[in-house]
Formats: sequence, structure tokens, C-alpha cells
Amino acid sequence: MSINMELMRKKLQQLRGEDDTDSVFFKPPDGESQIRIVPAADGDPLKEMHFHYNIPDRKGGVLCPKRNFGERCSICDFASSLWKDGVANNDEESKKLAKSLFVRQRYFSPVIVRGQEEEGIKIYGYGKRAYELLLGYILDPEYGDITDPLEGTDISLIYTPRTSPGTFPQTSLKMRRNTSTLLEDTEAIPALLDRMPNFDGLFERLSSDEVDAILDEQLSGNASAEERSSETGKYNVDTKNPVDKAFDELMATK
Ligand SMILES: [Zn+2]
Repeated sequence: MSINMELMRKKLQQLRGEDDTDSVFFKPPDGESQIRIVPAADGDPLKEMHFHYNIPDRKGGVLCPKRNFGERCSICDFASSLWKDGVANNDEESKKLAKSLFVRQRYFSPVIVRGQEEEGIKIYGYGKRAYELLLGYILDPEYGDITDPLEGTDISLIYTPRTSPGTFPQTSLKMRRNTSTLLEDTEAIPALLDRMPNFDGLFERLSSDEVDAILDEQLSGNASAEERSSETGKYNVDTKNPVDKAFDELMATK
């Protein structure tokens, strides 16, 4: 099997951090910027993807095989088993860990950034609140198809970075009053749309077996840490930690 160069480049970009200028992702600068959502060939410009976060060494998250592709996902299974265990035993720690592993939605739209049209189509990733807002505008007859290349609507985006630890960056989105064309030179629009980034290649798709391996690795890491601390007599060796217990249950049901 030959090496996937596209994937290797992506890995390199991830290593360097997402602020690589060649990155296909649009990272809102501090303050105000204007963007325009570009129509997608399949008619869905607000793409929903499902990730597991809070997995060490997997900063960008793990694409959930179950929610994205209808395949088996051991992280989903593990998290729900851990959650049930936590509820049954009134164990807040287990519940907290389970919650942190539950699948999360993230949304992606193809956009052009005003003033940087020549850079072509970028991908803007956002959360559920922005998604609901955008969907609301699209379904509102006052706005309609905000992605229309000739009569669509630009969006003012105001990004406020986090001001202190514990706070989150804020993004506010507002529709412009007037409709506009996607590009001033409308004849250049088809060529722009032809260079749509490939959504399927944005994130590495892992097989169910590969996700098993990631989870196994995490759990064995936890187990050895537990073993080490039990040597100091801090933990009662007869009390299995909730992660191990839930994992044993999970394995037993396979
Ligand atoms: Zn999953």
C-alpha cells in the first residue's frame, strides 16, 4: 500500500499547530471579520461531524466510527458502560470521565473570507450554538439561502479570544443587511466552486479496530498508573478502579 501523501501533509500541519497559513481551516482573527458560506455540491453547507475529545495525544479528537459511519465504536460503548456504572454506584468520578468521553458534535462550512477571496475556499469549524443560529437564518424566509452565489448574504463574525483562564473564546455571528454576490467578478464563481476542499479528507477516518487500540492504550496506561500507586498502599488493591471495572464489563459483553 502506498503512503497517503495528503494525510502526511495533514499530520505535519497538525504537528505545527493549526495556524499554518496553508491550512484549509479558517481561524477567525481577533475582532471582526466578514465571511460568506459557499454552497456545497451536495446541498449541505453545514456539515455535522461527531468526535470524541479528551483523549491524550489526540488533540483534534477522534472521529466516532459509530455516529459518523454507522460502525462499531468502543469509545461510545465504554463511555456509556462507564456512565451506567457511575449511576449505579453513585460514583461521580466515573460519571465525570464518561461525560468527557461522550460524543460531541462539531460543524463545518465551506467559506470564503472577505478580503482574502484569492485564497479560495476555507473550512470554518464551529459549535452547536453557531450551527443553530445559521440554520435559523437559512430557514427564515427573510434571509433564505444565505449561500446563494448571486443573492446570498455575508456574515459578520466577531471573535473575542478568551480573556482569562477558565473563560472561553466568544464568537458572535450576524447577517449583513444586504445581499451580495459571492465574488465581485461573477464569472469567476464557477472556478472558485470547483476548488471545493474535500470534506471527507479533513480528518483521519479510523477503523473500529484502530479506535479499539486507542482506547486499550489509554486504559492500560491508567491501569499501570493505578498499579504503581497501589504499591504505595494508597489504594485498596481489592477495589478496582471504575475505569477497569467498566472495561471488564465491556469486554465480557463482547
Ligand atoms: Zn463513538
